[in-house]
Amino acid sequence: MRKKHKVQLVAPAGNIEKLRTAFMYGADAVYIGYPGMSLRSYAENLDFSDIKRISGETGKTGKKLYLALNAYLKEADLKKARAAIKKINAIKPAAVIISDAGMIKVARRFLCPGVKIHLSTQANTLNSSAALFWKKSGVDRIILGREVSLKDIRSIKKAAPGMELEIFCHGAMCVSYSGRCLLSSVMTGRSANEGKCTHPCRWKYYLVEETRPGEYFQVESFAGGSYILNSKDLNMINYIAEIAEAGVDSIKIEGRMKSLYYIACVVRAYRSAIDSYYSGEKRPPKKIIEELEKISHRKYTTGFYVNRDSDSDMLFTDTSAYERKYDFLGVVENADDNIVTLEVRNKIRTGDSVEVIGPDIGQDRKEKINLMFEENGGVLKEANPGMKVKLNFKHGACAGDLVRKKNEQQS
Ligand code: SF4
Repeated sequence: MRKKHKVQLVAPAGNIEKLRTAFMYGADAVYIGYPGMSLRSYAENLDFSDIKRISGETGKTGKKLYLALNAYLKEADLKKARAAIKKINAIKPAAVIISDAGMIKVARRFLCPGVKIHLSTQANTLNSSAALFWKKSGVDRIILGREVSLKDIRSIKKAAPGMELEIFCHGAMCVSYSGRCLLSSVMTGRSANEGKCTHPCRWKYYLVEETRPGEYFQVESFAGGSYILNSKDLNMINYIAEIAEAGVDSIKIEGRMKSLYYIACVVRAYRSAIDSYYSGEKRPPKKIIEELEKISHRKYTTGFYVNRDSDSDMLFTDTSAYERKYDFLGVVENADDNIVTLEVRNKIRTGDSVEVIGPDIGQDRKEKINLMFEENGGVLKEANPGMKVKLNFKHGACAGDLVRKKNEQQS
């Protein structure tokens, strides 16, 4: 049994339902965007009163709430930044996540004691000298750039032992330094630095000679075309041991815009992998690794952490399509013995063979939809998103369990 303090698991939350799901499925902390000051402006940012309420709820459970204020400030934003920090003092999150050096200065001056400052991954910290600089600047935790290797993390921790280190462990990656890319701004007018990236790096490209407009030459990295900038998704589930042993204090899942189902599955997989490592297993069981194949994702890579010098492993040149082996059908609202009320999120039909999942991967069970009723008792053959239906499950279910089905086209 390993005795050291456990690596913390931090999950994204774009709304209250996702936040509660992340905690229920095993996250130690969640991060959300502070309205108007966060890079993820397309996540369903919560308003101030929501955040205040969540912060109160979170404080009572011993879990932590981190508020992202990681937009880069223009001169005119400084006043807004001061006002935001003063408002945040009324919420008292466990920490604020900041990218901009000016914002750090504002936070140090106005933030109430006890609220920690985490440096965003957008600051691209990759070495021990930078870590020491940020330590002197009042930063309590650095969320390192995804471009760092596990070997370098060890050196950074050794040089700055008092500095908490966090890394992204799962989710999408940029082909540029995180968010420092103008492709989306130039091609669509939507800025990655304002959280509005349209992901042109994943698109399919042709070669055109300037005097022959309209003549597209396929640059064939394979028969289907060329996706020369298309990054795979990060997946470090198999490396919890190396991450912990390198001195990482916290691992974070990317994806404030991802679905509730995605968050539940990824959180419970990493929760199990972390717990399994601290109970003495070097590698997580196969079932946990397989769980990450059941969400919508691109091909996986371990990014720069493991094979720093081999970027060929990080790009996926065949297609920009996602793999999706399972469809998410709904959330269990409540259950009375075997009668389960389900909030439907995707079409569900009688005859479907489904899987019911909860926070514990070991307790997943299979069910068949034999009978389905409307809330007022009418028999249904199929139900659509937005409906509530009653189902009879052999093994029952608990509020917050999720129902999924194999995607027949992809499995
Ligand atoms: S276009 Fe791609 S590389 Fe550029 S910011 Fe968006 S996701 Fe990152």
